[in-house]
Amino acid sequence: MLLGSDTPFTLGVASGEPSPDGMVLWTRLAPHPLEAGGGMPPRRVPVRWQVAEDEGFARVIRSGTAAADPAAGHSVHVEVSGLRPARPYFYRFVADGVASPVGRTRTAPAPGATVDHLRFCFGSCQKYEAGYYAAWRHIVAEDPELILFLGDYIYENAPGNGGVRRHLNPEPFDVAGYRIRYATYKMDPLLQAAHAAAPWIVTWDDHEVANDYAGALDEHNGDPVAFLTRRAAAYQAYWEHLPLRAAARPSGPDARLYRTLDWGALAQFQVIDDRQFRGARACQPPELLAEHRDYLVGVLDCPQRHDTSRTMLGDVQERWLLDALGKTRTQWNFLAQQTLMTPFAMIDPRHPEQGAVVHPADRWEGYPAARDRIFRRWVDAKTPNPVVLSGDIHAFTATDIHHPDHPDAAPVAAEFVGGSITSLNNHPGWRDEAKANPGVRFAENEVRGYARVDLSGKGSEVLFRGLADARNPDSAVSTIARFEVESGRAGIAEAS
Ligand code: FE
Ligand code: CA
Repeated sequence: MLLGSDTPFTLGVASGEPSPDGMVLWTRLAPHPLEAGGGMPPRRVPVRWQVAEDEGFARVIRSGTAAADPAAGHSVHVEVSGLRPARPYFYRFVADGVASPVGRTRTAPAPGATVDHLRFCFGSCQKYEAGYYAAWRHIVAEDPELILFLGDYIYENAPGNGGVRRHLNPEPFDVAGYRIRYATYKMDPLLQAAHAAAPWIVTWDDHEVANDYAGALDEHNGDPVAFLTRRAAAYQAYWEHLPLRAAARPSGPDARLYRTLDWGALAQFQVIDDRQFRGARACQPPELLAEHRDYLVGVLDCPQRHDTSRTMLGDVQERWLLDALGKTRTQWNFLAQQTLMTPFAMIDPRHPEQGAVVHPADRWEGYPAARDRIFRRWVDAKTPNPVVLSGDIHAFTATDIHHPDHPDAAPVAAEFVGGSITSLNNHPGWRDEAKANPGVRFAENEVRGYARVDLSGKGSEVLFRGLADARNPDSAVSTIARFEVESGRAGIAEAS
């Protein structure tokens, strides 16, 4: 036991980024995960990896050795290739004479291949203190081929009271602090089991760095140079702890997370990053920036909000996305992203008679021109069956998205927010407020959970799966709503 512990695999194993011939296999050596450096010596350590067709590893078909590098927190990201499409595989690691748990993963179907069916689950927002991970137990039981996580994998907050458990370190600002925060989350056995059950596709939201940040500005409008230093540390720790490719590895405060993944001819996932490149928030009193005061979360409309030069994705990512929406040939096109896209304003408590007029500056609602360019692009480019999958709001919503220039015509897409794994949305009356927005078909903020999607050539069924009590690790789950989207007919066809 050179590493001085029973196992260096305290944070489990994971896979992600499935392609037709491979995927990323992940682990991180951390014999003492809550210590600085995970209890590892400050040198590179070799890690054997194996991929087999069977769970007993009788038929190992790929293997090799990777280096767990202290510069990457002794994480390992193996990009396996040369596998056959549309098949399950098993993988494990060996370090210091100790074998890791076995993970199950799979390859994507061959490019353009006909695929009868795909089941995937998606979720977001798993604040450690707000609950246990019963949702992950149930997601594993659904036996999905893919799991999508749409942001707020960790929360950066200092330990708080009133939850079911507490964060184990102070609010992180550097790589060492974020590593301990990820270790805290990843030591959870239910989360580890979900990573070991299927490949994941991930994107981040704000709390992987800090609440409601926008580009180089935190929620306090603090010094952007200091914030970018923090962002670099947070991005580094994010990459170290998730099954991402080397192409997503950050360079300082910059990282390229946006990408597409295809599932044969059936589906494409356009995964985007609406945090890193966003421009200034809309309709903010100028003194807030100058005086480093907290940004205004909800704003009344102002001309600046509609300025077409304002960006949510940054010009480069936006051009890339609009191009991808024109090129895609898959039958379904899922925009996998973090914050609510459907036009969705809230009620001003001082003027309830005015209806929903308060725009959340932190969401797409604060960047409507950028949002409308995507909505128009789906129509102009005839993107097949666009569906948006989102997180962030700690609620379930199912909405029809309408063309900005033809709001009374048939919808152009549907959007689903699959609840939160644990995080709370304590807003009484939120459901009623939500329904003040046209397009909202379902809204529920008092139940935690996730969404399950069963996709075929004919249509897709989306189930919202709600936990009886996210504070109970043994909580039951049930279907709280069911939706159908038909191929060739945008929007939600049926809700029950
Ligand atoms: Fe969240
Ligand atoms: Ca968020």
